[in-house]
Amino acid sequence: MTEELNEPQLMEPGGKTRLYVTGDLGKGMTVSLDEGQSHYLLHVLRSQAGNLLTLFNGRDGEWQARITQAAKRGVAVTCLQQTQPQAGTPDIWLAFAPVKKTPSDYLVQKASELGVSVLQPVFTRRTVVGRINQERMRANAVEAAEQSGRLSVPEIREGVTFARLLATWPAERRLLFCDEGGDAKTMTQAARESRGGPTAILTGPEGGFDPAERAALRALPFVMPVSLGPRILRADTAALAALAIWQAVAGDF
Ligand code: SAM
Repeated sequence: MTEELNEPQLMEPGGKTRLYVTGDLGKGMTVSLDEGQSHYLLHVLRSQAGNLLTLFNGRDGEWQARITQAAKRGVAVTCLQQTQPQAGTPDIWLAFAPVKKTPSDYLVQKASELGVSVLQPVFTRRTVVGRINQERMRANAVEAAEQSGRLSVPEIREGVTFARLLATWPAERRLLFCDEGGDAKTMTQAARESRGGPTAILTGPEGGFDPAERAALRALPFVMPVSLGPRILRADTAALAALAIWQAVAGDF
């Protein structure tokens, strides 16, 4: 829920407004919303005590709740009934070389909608972005989780260098390296082969991976080079195309 990212909506009587909270959820439990959420409900949605909304926290499933306090000092809501039990999302990570601000916002939002569980920014030799705004990324991920009906928010990790990513990679997790250089399996084939096991997708920056990075990746036992077809895709397009194919073949589409 972030105003600039959110289309102002009227408070739906059925509680369609859906918010991610960090507190525990359970029948009769009351949750105090944070300042941003309170402001959004009171001043953007113009909601009042008695209105219904939907909450989730990534642990206790999804709950219908009623606003029991709508005051200047903040909004409190009380859980009425569970509307969905907690369910896991497929164990798919996206490691990506960050691209300029807008595409990164877009990439985080769309990858969250596509069910990614971890977003890992990677600084490769040709990455032009010097730093990432983790708070902004997290706000985008929360907003996308609220809108898409997910029951969890993807984990946004701190950016790491390419060398550190490979040095600390969990060997049991298959890394599907999107390599536009050719000589690679199709993403469909790779997704089929990685089905059932922990998997990650890796995409490069606008300028691609440099030869030394490609050689380093191809030398690793847990890495599988994959092709996303005959055309060169923009970095954010590649990440989302790879995720969608993986979800369709090995995930929960
Ligand atoms: N090296 C590319 C070029 O010569 O224009 C630019 C890299 S592309 C814009 C950004 C990233 O998207 C690549 O590093 C790769 O991870 C992924 N990618 C783009 N097209 C791809 C394809 N057809 N197959 C596999 N990966 C692709």
